[in-house]
Amino acid sequence: MPPIPSDIARVTVYCGSAPGDDPAFVRLARETGEAIAKDGLELVYGGGGIGLMGELARSAKASGGRVTGIITEQFLKLEQGWTGCDELVVVPTMAQRKNELIARADAFLVLPGGFGTYEEFFETLVGRVIGRHPAPIGLVDHGGFFQPLETLLDHAVSSGFARAAARHCVVRGTCPREVLRRCEGMLVASHEIQALLPMHGRGGGT
Ligand code: AMP
Repeated sequence: MPPIPSDIARVTVYCGSAPGDDPAFVRLARETGEAIAKDGLELVYGGGGIGLMGELARSAKASGGRVTGIITEQFLKLEQGWTGCDELVVVPTMAQRKNELIARADAFLVLPGGFGTYEEFFETLVGRVIGRHPAPIGLVDHGGFFQPLETLLDHAVSSGFARAAARHCVVRGTCPREVLRRCEGMLVASHEIQALLPMHGRGGGT
């Protein structure tokens, strides 16, 4: 496989603090950690040692990668803050945690997860739309987990509340390396806010 695009050095990954009900989710998290590390990329994530988060981070570290965790004081205990991180940044609030997770990323991957994962995904997508960051967002899927989310995104576009151009900031695939590769070229040099904001287009206009 060709290498990951060179303009991507740090990848923030959002995923569940639970392992999910299918061992394939755990395998996907491990595969993602390994792919990131083996491509020489730094993993940035929520810093937890449990669920898919823990699997992801341990796999990246075991594969020789650099791992940075961002966690709050409160969640250090709740999510068993992973001491194997090269850097574990402890911040006071969840808002600051998300700020750091977004600020440090050249690309985002989202793996299956719960409400926290969805929240992080949407804040990141909205951040892309309003020009807070230029990074692409990839959904790494297994078994159609993200199909309902994609249906929801499409529905917002077809109902005239979001623009197709904004929708296209999100790609999906089942192989983490393939998803990262699809992010290539999506790091726009100058992202035109007006092309993505809903009020600057009519419905599904691009
Ligand atoms: P979940 O998908 O619900 O297992 O959550 C995944 C990660 O998102 C966990 O590390 C949660 O602590 C984190 N999370 C949940 N809610 C928030 C929030 N409001 N801000 C930042 N992180 C959050």
